[in-house]
Amino acid sequence: MARVLIAGAGVGGLASAHRLRRQLADSDEIVVFDQSPMHTFWPSLLWLMTGTRHADQVQRPLTALKERKITVVHGPITAIEPTDKAVVSGDVRWAGDALIIALGADLDPSLVPGLTDEPGNFYTVAGAQAVWEQLQTVDQGRVVVLISRVPFKCPAAPYEAAMLIDGVLRKRHRRDRVSVEVWAAEPAPMGVAGPAVSQAVVNALTERGIAYQPQHVVSEVDASARVLTFQEATAVSYDLLAYVPPHRVPTVVAEAGLAPADGWVAVDPHTLETRFRDVFAIGDVTGIPLALGKPLPKAGVFAHRQGEVVADLIARRITGRETGPTFDGVGECFIEMGRGIAGFARGNFYAEPTPAVHAYKPGRHWHAGKVAFERHWWAQWW
Ligand SMILES: Cc1cc2nc3c(=O)[nH]c(=O)nc-3n(C[C@H](O)[C@H](O)[C@H](O)COP(=O)(O)OP(=O)(O)OC[C@H]3O[C@@H](n4cnc5c(N)ncnc54)[C@H](O)[C@@H]3O)c2cc1C
Repeated sequence: MARVLIAGAGVGGLASAHRLRRQLADSDEIVVFDQSPMHTFWPSLLWLMTGTRHADQVQRPLTALKERKITVVHGPITAIEPTDKAVVSGDVRWAGDALIIALGADLDPSLVPGLTDEPGNFYTVAGAQAVWEQLQTVDQGRVVVLISRVPFKCPAAPYEAAMLIDGVLRKRHRRDRVSVEVWAAEPAPMGVAGPAVSQAVVNALTERGIAYQPQHVVSEVDASARVLTFQEATAVSYDLLAYVPPHRVPTVVAEAGLAPADGWVAVDPHTLETRFRDVFAIGDVTGIPLALGKPLPKAGVFAHRQGEVVADLIARRITGRETGPTFDGVGECFIEMGRGIAGFARGNFYAEPTPAVHAYKPGRHWHAGKVAFERHWWAQWW
């Protein structure tokens, strides 16, 4: 009997668990650990933030995995022992034949002084709800979408947020009195996807009258005065702040020696194996350098595919086979643009010397595609 441990039941962890369950014998054990009792479908937070979803539509209980013969351990992982393929949760130490680290990125607003005083962290369920509450009453002034630090997960999300907010304000007939701006700690949107994709996003913002201020790193937030101060010596007032907080590697991963405190887990880009045999890391917790000198973006599409590749590889090792397909760096994403329209980009991020990514013409069908994907995500596993 084999036992595979999966640390984290987010996008990558779930994809691995289900794929393994289909391939391993019933007597083989799959154990998933998560500090949250719920699985959250993060892309839907943009719709929670703009009032087209409720909180109970973006989350499902992890206990449902038990029906698929996957053991769920609820509670924070407090230690990882990569040499033994073991984790500690509560008072129990679990050791396995293989370990998948899928703990994502920790969000840490406290890294920017004053940011925790603002509720609009739309990368959380509560923060997305807080933005929606404010969006319904803001009648004039300035909405700022802030990208506080790089890297951050889903490179498109803050730009989608700005365009969706623009759509809500137009529907409320308030857009002429409320400006929408994106202030970003990066030089261009979705830069890894290449200049054509970046320019397409900038054009979409411009067409909607959304001001874009790249290369601004916020240094302080004064929530009572509603002022952002940037390292570039600029100060900006706001009436509503929707922000992406700083991301960092989970402390338990750094403490295990799997990543530096200010970095991410190094893995083989194709097998996702760490320097420890049979210990894999997938998704946002990893840092995979690309030929152009920037890392592979943190995105669910990659976590999902990597989770499946790693599950296949572990299943092959357990059954005594070694070779098979590996992760090829291909990914795609929908880009919500408001008022029922979305764009779509797809490509090979491992292509050299630069990723080969194509942006398709926006339309209603891409928005419908994203809605269909959300439905499929829940239907296949719940
Ligand atoms: C608003 C928003 C929109 C997005 N839209 C898209 C999109 O359209 N397309 C796309 O590809 N990606 C999108 N993403 C990004 C995508 O959600 C992430 O890249 C993806 O979830 C990463 O998967 P993961 O498995 O690495 O981590 P996660 O899905 O974050 O899962 C990590 C899990 O680990 C658990 N965990 C963490 N620490 C511990 C611990 N110590 N003990 C126990 N459990 C722990 C967490 O509770 C969590 O369940 C979006 C993200 C956001 C926030």
